[in-house]
Amino acid sequence: MALSGLDIYKLLPKTNCRECGLSTCLAFAMQLAKKAAGIDKCPYLSKESKAILESQSQPLIRLVTLGSGEDKLEIGNESVMFRHEEKFHHPCGIGFIIEDSLKDDEIRARIAKINALKFERVGQRLEVNLVALEQKGDAARFIESVKLVSGNTSLGLVLMGWDLLSLKAALDILKGRRVLIYPVKGEDAKALAELTKNYNTALVISAEDLDTLSALTLELNNLGVSDLIIDVKGETIPERIWGLTQIRRLALKKGNRNLGYPALTIVNESDPFEEAQEAATYIAKYSGIVLIRGFQPYEVLSLLTLRQNIYTDPQKPLQIEPKLYPVGQVNDKSPVLVTTNFSLSYFTVLGEVEASKIPSYIVSVDTEGMSVLTAWAAEKFTPRSIADSLNKFGVKEAVVHNRLIIPGYVAVMSGELEDESGFKVIVGPKEAAGIPAFLKNL
Ligand code: SF4
Repeated sequence: MALSGLDIYKLLPKTNCRECGLSTCLAFAMQLAKKAAGIDKCPYLSKESKAILESQSQPLIRLVTLGSGEDKLEIGNESVMFRHEEKFHHPCGIGFIIEDSLKDDEIRARIAKINALKFERVGQRLEVNLVALEQKGDAARFIESVKLVSGNTSLGLVLMGWDLLSLKAALDILKGRRVLIYPVKGEDAKALAELTKNYNTALVISAEDLDTLSALTLELNNLGVSDLIIDVKGETIPERIWGLTQIRRLALKKGNRNLGYPALTIVNESDPFEEAQEAATYIAKYSGIVLIRGFQPYEVLSLLTLRQNIYTDPQKPLQIEPKLYPVGQVNDKSPVLVTTNFSLSYFTVLGEVEASKIPSYIVSVDTEGMSVLTAWAAEKFTPRSIADSLNKFGVKEAVVHNRLIIPGYVAVMSGELEDESGFKVIVGPKEAAGIPAFLKNL
């Protein structure tokens, strides 16, 4: 279990010398507990304290990396059971199983559709992560399919091979790609460890119960393999949820390092709605990877949206980049509207400006993701901060007029904003829904 701030404080010198940059040892302990500081900042730690704190700084659930470049997927390194306690760190990878028994053209077509599963929501890109190739026939067909899949996608790859020979031959083709191997029938731990180390892959393992699983991860660890992913099996959804929850709980709450690995689940459901529902359950609790077979955009979008929400920091509102956004074919006479960088505020204003069909600029002011009234009350959306944003984003250079439209709710700042910015302030509607009519009558 992770040490609390007070537990950590007991291990510190308690001299309050300030060399760590904080005014007291207690403040430093609190920063360590939040993982906002490193132990190297205190030069006076005893050897024993350092050893304890270093072992504590290792993640309780291992971070495993698959793929590379823009398509790199990192899973694990989670620290809490419930996102309100802190946040979930590494979004669950979503992947698609393709059987090698399909014809080449079908595999190509499926890969093309999977590659195209990219969406944008509240200013963020939502993308899928993995393609899993499942061996159904002989090694030769598996190898051919591996070539076909790897040549047509840059997504991370999962090789679901029947035997070590097929997997080894496939890995020879994929040298340099960080893939995940999934020996469908299970194999001898020593042989698996050798293959995994020789090809620098991550490995999926499973066992009939948690004790056997712990023993297996320990054995593989002793053989030098640590990038493991646990396939959580079960006859029913509740059985799988039980397995996922127990593994997470034992790793985080009991400090069982033998179970401190990300989990994987496979959904075998032919109905796309049932499949989406089951996959959603595993994304919510606590799969690091979910593999499905359906690739319809309507099914995948709902899963990506759920994942986005679950892996958003609950203490940080969704934000967009603060800057000057042109909407439509703007020119130097286009109206300029001001709002905050809270995603919901910005996208609501954006939608209404687009609906007005009047090309306009929107200035998104950095309010740390707060909405208009909240930011105003917290003094994050002030005449000074708006004027600074106008200067920083070059609004004076973008338009020849000097008019600025502000949300109706903050009409009270008009005079001061005019003084601070040099712009003539026009008070816009209180609600974004009034923007189209307002712009048309401007
Ligand atoms: S450097 Fe170490 S001893 Fe000094 S205040 Fe920071 S934690 Fe305390």
